[in-house]
Amino acid sequence: MKINFVDLKRQYESIKDEIDPAIQNVIENASFIMGPDMKEFEKEFAKFCGAKHCIGVDSGTTALSLAIKAIGIKPGDEVITVPNTFIATTLAVSDVGAKLKFVDIDPHTYNMSPDELEKAISEKTKLIIPVHLYGQCCDMDQIMKIADKHNIPVLEDACQAHGADFKGKKAGTFGIAGCFSFYPGKNLGAYGDGGAVITDDDQIAESIEMLRNYGQKKKYYHSLKGHNHRLDSIQAAVLRVKLKHLDSWNRSRNKNAQVYNKHLKKLIGEKVIIPYEHGKGSHIYHLYVIRVPKDKRDGLIRYLAEKDIYAGIHYPIPIHMQDAYKELQEHIGKFPLTEKYAEEIVSLPMFPELTEEEIMFVCENIKEYLNK
Ligand SMILES: *Cc1c(COP(=O)(O)O)cnc(C)c1O
Repeated sequence: MKINFVDLKRQYESIKDEIDPAIQNVIENASFIMGPDMKEFEKEFAKFCGAKHCIGVDSGTTALSLAIKAIGIKPGDEVITVPNTFIATTLAVSDVGAKLKFVDIDPHTYNMSPDELEKAISEKTKLIIPVHLYGQCCDMDQIMKIADKHNIPVLEDACQAHGADFKGKKAGTFGIAGCFSFYPGKNLGAYGDGGAVITDDDQIAESIEMLRNYGQKKKYYHSLKGHNHRLDSIQAAVLRVKLKHLDSWNRSRNKNAQVYNKHLKKLIGEKVIIPYEHGKGSHIYHLYVIRVPKDKRDGLIRYLAEKDIYAGIHYPIPIHMQDAYKELQEHIGKFPLTEKYAEEIVSLPMFPELTEEEIMFVCENIKEYLNK
């Protein structure tokens, strides 16, 4: 039995009847750039999130970059985030020449620790970027309380959290803006690259709209030195179809996670640490991440691959240990949880269409390897 890490072909088969005409419609109308599908998707996604504005862009990385610029972050400003994230979070900060300051993660959720955040804030802090990693929101009560106390804006990296909520409020709507990626493998994925920023702030929305479109509000009248970072209309048409299924897919992912939990507990017990749910909102399981003893981790992934089961690591190298960030390597040792967990985490296959039989097969093979 072959089990892919994600299986986008299986998903396409289930929505082919809706996707094909939607794409064809864009082609027949030749509405490739800034067409009605892009505008409609922006409205629909803003509504889905409960935000006033949504601005479609060409990737999640761009969404972060343009939001940081629109907020007014300048070279030398200090931006606080976590080293346990995908590198796009920090590349967007480096892109404007701002200075990264890391804080360690919560031991259970692996998201930004509010206690560590509080300790790290200084006079120079100009922005806080919590990352809702794996599909579960950070503790936004605590983070917003600390940010508000110091009057520092919050930008949410919600690139793994489309539709996740914290106490009923959707990811991306707590801070001044929220950023999403529509990379194909994300919970809401396009058939190519895509991204979006959501915000209630009219000024930020307006400046992102200009920054993504040559810095113009009116054609050929350029008030900013912008760039070309628009969301493609064909991608928007795909996203409009998929958005209608997102809640149901997210529920299936959560159900699959509970099936994993049940079988892993029964078969293996304490030897694997299953994902922790804080219970203050829905976990939409972009990734289902377990921890195993570090001397077993790489062997387990190889063993599973021999059985045609494809697992991953998100992420194997914390940002401050990456070659691209040599200047941050002096901080190695300062984020002990991030560094320890990076050697223990394994992301198991996770997508809405996984069957219980497939999940059991994965769990049985994990048991076989760990008991060897
Ligand atoms: C995917 C992702 C991004 C970047 O999105 P792209 O669309 O690939 O540019 C940023 N942050 C996090 C946490 C992500 O998972």
